[in-house]
Amino acid sequence: ALRLSDRVQRIQPSPTLAVTARAAELRDQGRDVIGLGAGEPDFTTPEPIRAAAKAAIDGGHTKYTPVDGMASLKRAITAKFRTDNGLEYGSDEVIVSTGGKQVVYNLAQALLQEGDEAVIPAPYWVSYPDIVKLAGAEPATIETDDTAGFKISAYQLDSALNERTRLLILNSPSNPTGALYSEAELEALAEVLRKHPQVVILTDDIYEKILLGSTPFRNILNVAPDLKDRTVVLNGVSKAFAMTGWRIGYAAGPRDLIGAMKKLQSQSTSNPASISQHAALAALESDPELIQPMVEAFRERHNFVSEALNALPYVSCRRAEGAFYLFPSFHSATEALGLEDDVALATHLLDQAGVALVPGSAFGAPGYLRLSFATDLDSLKAAMDRIGKVLAG
Ligand code: PLP
Repeated sequence: ALRLSDRVQRIQPSPTLAVTARAAELRDQGRDVIGLGAGEPDFTTPEPIRAAAKAAIDGGHTKYTPVDGMASLKRAITAKFRTDNGLEYGSDEVIVSTGGKQVVYNLAQALLQEGDEAVIPAPYWVSYPDIVKLAGAEPATIETDDTAGFKISAYQLDSALNERTRLLILNSPSNPTGALYSEAELEALAEVLRKHPQVVILTDDIYEKILLGSTPFRNILNVAPDLKDRTVVLNGVSKAFAMTGWRIGYAAGPRDLIGAMKKLQSQSTSNPASISQHAALAALESDPELIQPMVEAFRERHNFVSEALNALPYVSCRRAEGAFYLFPSFHSATEALGLEDDVALATHLLDQAGVALVPGSAFGAPGYLRLSFATDLDSLKAAMDRIGKVLAG
C-alpha cells in the first residue's frame, strides 16, 4: 500500500456522511428509509438568488475574482455585520471562503501548531476536532449535557483554559443541540477570557437566522466588544438561505489573522466560485422576509417533533432555540432495548424502523441521537410513529 501522511491518518471521515451512506445503501435495496441525518435545509434556494446566479453566468462573471471575495460582496458582508450584529469592519478585515468549513480550516491552519490546544465545547459540530488535528494541534473538549442545556459554564471554561490554549470555538445556535447562549451567559464567559489574552475566539454564527424561540441572537462581541481584536466571527449563506451546495461562507476578524487566512487560501483554492459569490450577494441584499417561510416551517416542525419525542417511552428531549436539530437523550431507551450504545441504537433504528439518525458519539456526546428536522412534516410524523413502534415493541 502507498504510505499516507501521519496528518491524514489522524482524522476520521465525517460520521454524519457515514449514516447517510448506510441509509442510501438500504434505499438501493428497495427499503423505505426516512433520512433525519442531513445537516442541510430541504428547501430549494429562493428564486431571486437563483436568478442572480443565472444573470452572473450570462453577464460573463465567469472569471477569477480577488482571492478573498469580490469587493461588492465584501461590502454587503460589512453592511450585514453592521446592520444585523452592530459590528464595524473594514474590507481588509473580511474574507469570503468556500463554505464556512473553509473559514474554520483556514483559521486553524493560520493560528495553530504542534503543542497548541483548541477548546471545543461538546456536543460539537463534527468537523471542529478534526480540523484542529489537521493543523497539528489538540482538541480539548468541555463536556456538557442536557441538564446544563448543553452549554458550558464560566467555571468549566476557566478549568479548561491553560497556557497552551490558543483557540476557543463557540457555536450558538448549536449544531447538534440547538442551544443558544444568552447575553448573561456570554458575559460570564467573556469575563474568564479576559484573563487569557492569548486565546483567540471563533464565534460560529452560521445558524444565526434560524431562531425557534423568543431568545434573541447575540454573539460574544455584542456583550464584550473589548474582545474584538482576538475574535473571528463566522457566518455564511448555506443554512440561512438554503444554499449548502453553493459553498459560500465568510468571516470577519483581526486584520493580521484574516490576512494570513487569505494567504493560505491564495495557495489552496483561490477565490470561491464567482457565480456563487453573485448568488451570495443577492442573498445578503435580499428582503429579510425572503427566508421567513423557511424559518416558520422549521418552527412548526420543531414543535411537532420535540413534543412527539417527549411522548415516547424512555426518551427525553430539550427544546431547541435555534438551528434545525434536536438532540434527545436515548440513554434509557438504549438500555431498555438491551443495546450496547448509541451507535448500536442508530443502526437498530435504521434497520428496524427505517429511520436514519446520527449517534451522539459522533458529536462527542454518547447516549444521544441527533435528529434533523430539515425535512417535511409528513416524513417527520411517519418517522416518529415508526420509532415509537420499535421502542414499544
Ligand atoms: N458550522 C456549523 C456549526 C455547521 O453545522 C456547518 C455545516 O454543517 C458549518 C459551520 C459549515 O457550513 P458550510 O461549509 O456549508 O458553510
